[in-house]
Amino acid sequence: DHRPGRVARVDRGVCTVLCADGPVRASLGGTVLAAAARDLTTLPCAGDWVLVATWPDGRHTVEAVLPRRTALVRRTAGKDASGQVLAANLDAAAVVEPVHPEPDTGRIERLLSLVHESGAQPLVVLTKADLAADPEAIARQLAAVAPGVPVLPVSAERGAGLDPLRAQVAPGRTLGLLGPSGAGKSSLVNALAGAVVMPTQAIRRVDGKGRHTTTWRSLVPVPGGGAVLDTPGVRAVGLLDGSAGLDRAFADIADLATGCRYADCAHDGEPACAVREALESGDLSTRRWESWRRLQREVAFESRRREARL
Ligand code: GDP
Repeated sequence: DHRPGRVARVDRGVCTVLCADGPVRASLGGTVLAAAARDLTTLPCAGDWVLVATWPDGRHTVEAVLPRRTALVRRTAGKDASGQVLAANLDAAAVVEPVHPEPDTGRIERLLSLVHESGAQPLVVLTKADLAADPEAIARQLAAVAPGVPVLPVSAERGAGLDPLRAQVAPGRTLGLLGPSGAGKSSLVNALAGAVVMPTQAIRRVDGKGRHTTTWRSLVPVPGGGAVLDTPGVRAVGLLDGSAGLDRAFADIADLATGCRYADCAHDGEPACAVREALESGDLSTRRWESWRRLQREVAFESRRREARL
């Protein structure tokens, strides 16, 4: 007899699975291990719905990972090009950056590409809004690097701006948080959960477990029904091949390109190139253009690498 549950975290191959009657610790069953030998992305990760078997000796094993609705996948280092699933079944995923020190626009663009690719609804959350004189102005500036994506200034410390995020953890919904260590993700989780469920940086420093506690991702149920999933320390992640997410994250440039005279315009000195014109008029910043080119080259390189492997 198998029962369903949701993976809250994975620590060295042992899953903490939230089942109807409470959490259980389950190791990986034979079928799951066999699938992982062919494709590492099939390994259970935080947010996955799984089937758990309980054996006569009391041990629990994960026997199946149910199909994912969405998956945040990053490139893994080295020869293996299959990628690593950071989180599964997120309804929305927020790229989290603090207002202070200055938000890293390149990182926002990269992580938004990943979120767009995942199938989850993208958001940008500007944390520590209490540290900026005019957080709304910073949000308006960042709108240019997040076309079509809400940019939400919040302060976990003051409990300000949290309502749009509360809507994302309504019953049945899961919100993922993606961003570097120190951005204020744990503080946000605690604010949404209404209790200190995640150790924040200050606490981690005091108990000396900072390194350990930042290495796992975990799903935290929110009172009322939803859940929030912290992916600690995701600073910069490599993109896999497949450029749909990238095109959506840079929808402004894709839109501009439809105005070029030639459908196959490389924006490299062709006549009547709408992208060049936007760069010259300042409508498109050189920084953003170069960021897009860099990510495109990265994705093209990954595609060639994958083809070479197959
Ligand atoms: P994480 O590493 O992304 O989980 O970040 P933490 O939640 O641990 O926060 C990092 C540091 O920023 C801690 O010292 C927090 O107290 C501080 N911090 C978090 N949220 C806020 C906020 O809204 N305002 C201010 N001023 N500081 C914050």
